[in-house]
Amino acid sequence: MTDVRRALPSVDAVVRAVGRVDATRRARVTSIARELLAEARASGTAVDTSAVAATAKARLAERDAPTLRRVINATGVVLHTNLGRAPLSGAALQALHDAAGAASLEYDLIEGKRGERHGHAARLLAEVCGAEDGVVVNNGAAAVLLSLAAIAGRGREVIVSRGELVEIGGAFRIPDVLTRSGAKLVEVGTTNRTYARDYAAAITEKTAAILRVHASNFKVSGFTARATSKELSAVARERGLAFVHDLGSGTLLDTARYGLGVEETVQRAVAAGADVVTFSGDKLLGGPQAGLIVGRAATIAKLRGHPLMRALRPDKLTLAALVATLTSYRDGNAERDLPVWRMIAATTTSLGKRAKTIAAAVGGTVVTTESTVGGGSLPEETQPSRAVALAGAPQALATRLRSGDPPVIGVVVDGQLALDLRSVLPEDDAALVEAVGRALRHERPKRG
Ligand SMILES: *Cc1c(COP(=O)(O)O)cnc(C)c1O
Repeated sequence: MTDVRRALPSVDAVVRAVGRVDATRRARVTSIARELLAEARASGTAVDTSAVAATAKARLAERDAPTLRRVINATGVVLHTNLGRAPLSGAALQALHDAAGAASLEYDLIEGKRGERHGHAARLLAEVCGAEDGVVVNNGAAAVLLSLAAIAGRGREVIVSRGELVEIGGAFRIPDVLTRSGAKLVEVGTTNRTYARDYAAAITEKTAAILRVHASNFKVSGFTARATSKELSAVARERGLAFVHDLGSGTLLDTARYGLGVEETVQRAVAAGADVVTFSGDKLLGGPQAGLIVGRAATIAKLRGHPLMRALRPDKLTLAALVATLTSYRDGNAERDLPVWRMIAATTTSLGKRAKTIAAAVGGTVVTTESTVGGGSLPEETQPSRAVALAGAPQALATRLRSGDPPVIGVVVDGQLALDLRSVLPEDDAALVEAVGRALRHERPKRG
C-alpha cells in the first residue's frame, strides 16, 4: 500500500500531461485529476501519469457530451415516450422560436395593460373540441390532478370503476393521484364489468364526481362491460355530480380512418356531456407536452381559480407551440402539417419506396413490419409498415447506431436490427442514410 501511494503522480503532473487547455477547463481537469488519484489511492492501484491523464481527458469529454440530443426514431413507435413523444410541426417550431424572446404572454396588446396567460390557447382549444371553455397545464397527469383537486378535494368522494384503477406509466397510478388530490376513492364494479347502475348505487351525500379513465395502455377483452360516456354523464347530471373523463391520448381526428381501432374523440367525449375532459398535448394531438382540459365553463373557471393552477401552469413556449398545433386542426390541416398524423397516414407504398432507396444506399434489405402508435394510445393496434433490416449482430449494430450523430434508434425484428420508417419523417431519410452509413463503416461520429 505504502509503495503504491508513494508511486502516485501529483495532481500537477497529471494536469501538465493532459496538455494545453483554457483556464475554465484547467480547473475542471484539476478536479477530475484529484478524483482519479483519490480513487487510485482508495483502491491501492498503481497508476502512471500518462494513464491518469488519458482517463482524465476521457472523463472530461464524457461530462461535456450533451445527453439530451436530437435522435432519429426508427423504432416504428410513432409516439415513443422515451424519445419525446410527438415531434412538433414546422408551424409549432416557428411559434416556439418567435415566443422565445419578449412575448405578450400576460399582456393585452389592445388595451396596453396586463392580460391573461390562459386566454391564448383556451378559446382555440374550446373551439376545436366543441367545448364551452378550456385550460392548459403542464401534462396529462397534472390535468387529472387539478380536475380532481378542484372538483372533489378535501375528502369528497370520487367513484371509479375497478377496471380503471390503472397505472398509466412512470408510476402514475390513478388511485394515488386521487389520494394526492385530496379526494376519496370509491371503487365500484369488477375488473371486467362495471355498469352505470354500479355507479348510481355508490352515490352518497359526500360524492362529488364520477371519474372515467381511458384504458390507454392495455386492452380488456372477453366477458367485459363498461358504461358509456353518455350513461355516466346522465347519472352524474341526475344526481348533481360532476363527470370527469380522462381520455389520456385524446384524438381530435377519427383513428379508424387510418386503419386503427376506434377511439372516442375529444369532440365526442365533450358532446356526451362530460363536465371535464382531460388529455395530453404530446400524444395523438401531436403538440408539445401539455395537459389539456376542456368542458363546462363553470367547472373550467373553478379549475383556473384553484391554488394548484399556479404550480401547474405552462410556460410561453408550450403555449406558443400548442396554439400553432391547434391552429392546424382549426384550419383542417392536421393531417398535412402535424408529424404524428403524417406518420400515421403514410401508405405502405410510400414507406416501401423509401425503404427500397435507403436499403440500396446502406446495403440492407426491405422487410415488412408492424408499427404501433405508442404513447398510451390504441393499445395492441398496429399498422403495416416497412423497414430496412441490416445484416450483422443486432445488439452490436444497435450500440453503434446509438453512438452516431444523430443517434439512430432501431428495433430488433426476427433477430435483425431494423429501421422502421413509419416513425421517420421523409425529410430525415438523408440524415438516416448518412448516420447508418457511418456506423456500418465503423467511422467515429463527428461529435466524437
Ligand atoms: C398518458 C395518460 C395520462 C398522463 O398524461 P401525461 O401527459 O403523460 O402526463 C393520464 N391518463 C391517461 C389515461 C393516459 O393515457
